[in-house]
Amino acid sequence: MAAAILDGRALATRIEDELRTEVGTFATMFRGRPRLVVVLVGDVAASASYVKSKSAAATRVGIDSEVITAPATATTAELVELVQTIARGERGRADGILVQLPLPPHVDTVAVLDAVPPDLDVDGFHPHNAGLLSQGRPRFVPCTAAGVQRLLIDAGIETAGRHVVIVGRSDIVGKPLALLLATKAPSTAAPAARHGCDATVTICHSRSADLAAITRQADILVAAVGRPKMITAEMVKPGAAVIDVGINRVDGRLVGDVDFDAVCEVAGQITPVPGGVGPLTVAMLLANTLLAAELRGHG
Ligand code: NDP
Repeated sequence: MAAAILDGRALATRIEDELRTEVGTFATMFRGRPRLVVVLVGDVAASASYVKSKSAAATRVGIDSEVITAPATATTAELVELVQTIARGERGRADGILVQLPLPPHVDTVAVLDAVPPDLDVDGFHPHNAGLLSQGRPRFVPCTAAGVQRLLIDAGIETAGRHVVIVGRSDIVGKPLALLLATKAPSTAAPAARHGCDATVTICHSRSADLAAITRQADILVAAVGRPKMITAEMVKPGAAVIDVGINRVDGRLVGDVDFDAVCEVAGQITPVPGGVGPLTVAMLLANTLLAAELRGHG
């Protein structure tokens, strides 16, 4: 039987509807809208396209956004200075700063990301926010990880006590998602607030031996690698939920890390690419921007 499709686009639209109301309340209370500043370096078409869709989504929910561009030749020091300038409010107020990745190869990406103050770090990449997440008290959670968790909760896919296997250990996706899903739910929390955590998590990577033997144990399998169709039907336990984070361009088309048609015949639920995790990443960026504005407040 074919797997149920987990429609990330529809969920993202519902999240945007919720956010529009919350942003409206914020704007009334603080007499101003939240404001996101995006730094775009160079002229990589895919990055420009991601930034465009983030700005459009911000506009849809009532968040102001500005894109500040820098040339591909900008040095690490120049980009750090640019981020610091934005953080000091010299380019207009900023409730959140996002540096679109990847940066050109000559740039020290970590140095530039670290220049974003933790309270403006709506991507959740700063070591301070990564540390809070690792201690089970998340503030700004990296958007893709937050989006995957929200998708699982929304679809009613239980995580507590279940085995989640994540293929990919990046600081952006794999690692934060593992921390998030393995977080201990507070025993005092209402049942709804306990969802999306308490999982048993295994992280795999390029040095993992016999990957298929591990992925076949997954109740929930997450692919975050960047290799088209690397997760085949033989690697999936029948009935498992399969979350495809990968975005790969093949012959001008976007495909995920999962061999979608074949895995559909085995999995219980599956996300499509496009239309799965991608829209949720954008929705969570908007949620983080509103949160940043609320934590700062302004009048
Ligand atoms: P990275 O390149 O930073 O990490 C890839 C991970 O995959 C690494 O941990 C790497 O292992 C692992 N890996 C590589 N080859 C294999 C293999 N053969 N077997 C097992 N593991 C392997 O990528 P990102 O985490 O940034 O992104 C992953 C994918 O997700 C990309 O396609 C990206 O475009 C997409 N993405 C999608 C988003 C969305 O909104 N949907 C958002 C962000 C990313 P090792 O650590 O050993 O090198």
